[in-house]
Amino acid sequence: MTLVIHDVKKEFGRHKAVDGITLTVEKGSMFGMLGANGAGKTTTFRMILGLLDPTEGYVTWGGSPLSYKRTHLVGYLPEERGLYPKLTVKEQLLYLMRLKGMKKSDVIGAMREWLERFRVTEYENKKVEELSKGNQQKIQFIASVLHRPELLILDEPFSGLDPVNTDMLKEAIQDLQKMGTTIVFSSHQMRNVEELCEDLIMLKRGRAVLQGNLRDIKRSYGMKNVIIQAG
Ligand code: ATP
Repeated sequence: MTLVIHDVKKEFGRHKAVDGITLTVEKGSMFGMLGANGAGKTTTFRMILGLLDPTEGYVTWGGSPLSYKRTHLVGYLPEERGLYPKLTVKEQLLYLMRLKGMKKSDVIGAMREWLERFRVTEYENKKVEELSKGNQQKIQFIASVLHRPELLILDEPFSGLDPVNTDMLKEAIQDLQKMGTTIVFSSHQMRNVEELCEDLIMLKRGRAVLQGNLRDIKRSYGMKNVIIQAG
């Protein structure tokens, strides 16, 4: 299923948060969205997810807007992290996956695989508030992928992570893509997008200042100019 964003605009009063973005993300590909604070990345994600209606334009996934009926096929890591601090990791994941319609035994099996992969097995029965910020972020990531979504939206997945955890997460994201997941993620850093994506859009004040295939962009502009634009 292809994700299509067609000439989308979002205004908050007189403020244009997103001002005419068009892009296509093919099934199974990984797409990077670059931009500084306030560029319009989160607003675009919320429109993809159907949480916000565009002022103009449209967003479709597989030919129709993302309805509530299909939200179990989507995973979302929001920028503002939010887990229930008093629940244990296991309770947290069981609760969130129940909302996605997943069976308890399936949750437990998949959860243990992810906890092991992220080397946080010992926290299964610890309250979320007892975990470090980095480990909380890993749990939140697990919550966005445990139900094996077909479309995965990651808002700044690497922010606040140390290099070891960043690499661990990058590998996991790459493996999910290899398994056919369509992934869109945002980042402030060109390096992350460069390592993971073939296609990207760079936003500035709601507009695309650079867009296309990364290799083509590098060939036309040179990497230094891409980095300068990103900054
Ligand atoms: P960040 O990395 O800081 O989250 P971003 O690229 O995700 O940046 P957005 O959160 O999409 O940017 O915000 C784009 C612009 O729209 C900002 O100027 C922001 O203040 C504004 N904005 C976002 N949501 C609202 C809202 N609900 N009401 C009014 N203005 C908003």
